[in-house]
Amino acid sequence: MSLIKKISSRFIQAKHSSNWPGLIEGYREWLPVNKNTPIITLKEGATPLIQVPSIQKVIGRGVKVFVKYDGLNPTGSFKDRGMTMAISKAKEEGCEAVICASTGNTSASAAAYAKRGGMKAFVLIPDGYVAQGKLAQALVYGAEVLAIKGNFDDALEIVQQMSNNYPITLVNSVNPYRIEGQKTAAFEIIDTLGEAPDWLCIPMGNAGNISAYWKGFEEYKNKGKSKKLPKMMGFQASGSAPLVFDKTINNPETIATAIRIGNPVNKVKAINAKEKSNGSFLDVTDEEIINAYKILGQEEGIFCEPASAASVAGLIKRAEEVPTNGTVVCVLTGNGLKDPDCAINNNNAVFHSGLESNIKTVANAIGF
Ligand SMILES: *Cc1c(COP(=O)(O)O)cnc(C)c1O
Repeated sequence: MSLIKKISSRFIQAKHSSNWPGLIEGYREWLPVNKNTPIITLKEGATPLIQVPSIQKVIGRGVKVFVKYDGLNPTGSFKDRGMTMAISKAKEEGCEAVICASTGNTSASAAAYAKRGGMKAFVLIPDGYVAQGKLAQALVYGAEVLAIKGNFDDALEIVQQMSNNYPITLVNSVNPYRIEGQKTAAFEIIDTLGEAPDWLCIPMGNAGNISAYWKGFEEYKNKGKSKKLPKMMGFQASGSAPLVFDKTINNPETIATAIRIGNPVNKVKAINAKEKSNGSFLDVTDEEIINAYKILGQEEGIFCEPASAASVAGLIKRAEEVPTNGTVVCVLTGNGLKDPDCAINNNNAVFHSGLESNIKTVANAIGF
């Protein structure tokens, strides 16, 4: 093994050991922090990149497919990457309360990090459209939850005005520190693979994450950490695809509630990432999303939320365009446990209920 390889593999081992300090300390020189910044962390980041043979089989032609399993962050989604930065900077600036609009995961993450930093968190959610697990988290982490009779886009409008008019910091992805924290996922992919992938497949809601990944890939390449840049392949649910159809969607609908957004604030940045990378946007139906969700669960033992499965659904839909022998990374943005209703209603499991409690019945049921 070459010295460089040895060092980098040691680095990767360290990242996955219990010594990982969280992504701000892990990538300090790449982030806008200074010696006065209090680091509010739950040791987020350093999530696994897992090869997925069942998806590779679907794509064929020697293509290697990995998933970046960001559902293994402390509150179960990639939002923690942005939140450690946004909350640390808010603390540095002396802020005492934060506010956000959320389809669920931002509220869970904002609540956890705000509390850890000794701040209050107020979260606006669309009443009735937030997955159970996410709502449970916001409540447990002690946020003040405001459920409005409107969708995410309405909620974001309100919190933007709130932060302009009252002493409260906005921690949605319009907050530039969110993007800074989230770009570290691109660094981790290159640190693990040794090079950028050919394609990065990612679900898009407010489109902050695709913008963050692109920033990360560009920064690493500019500093010689990689030779190439990936094509940025963004996917939205068909009933909620403003970036694909290039128009605001007034009543977005999809089973993937995390990306049920009709008017993404990071639209310009996302289009820039697509154009500069020679990538593209496409929509996937709820059926295609659930198909990918089931393959990941049943064949790979990977449980993600439906919004996350949009990245894999999109890759499958674009299978013929992937370069032969190429490398693809699909971002799994959130943990499947977030949305138990979706899981219970969408699986192919065999479930025998109400059995008598004796060995004969059980053996019979199994088919012995
Ligand atoms: C927030 C979120 C998204 C969308 O990310 P954007 O930055 O808003 O595009 C996708 N999946 C999950 C699970 C999310 O929580």
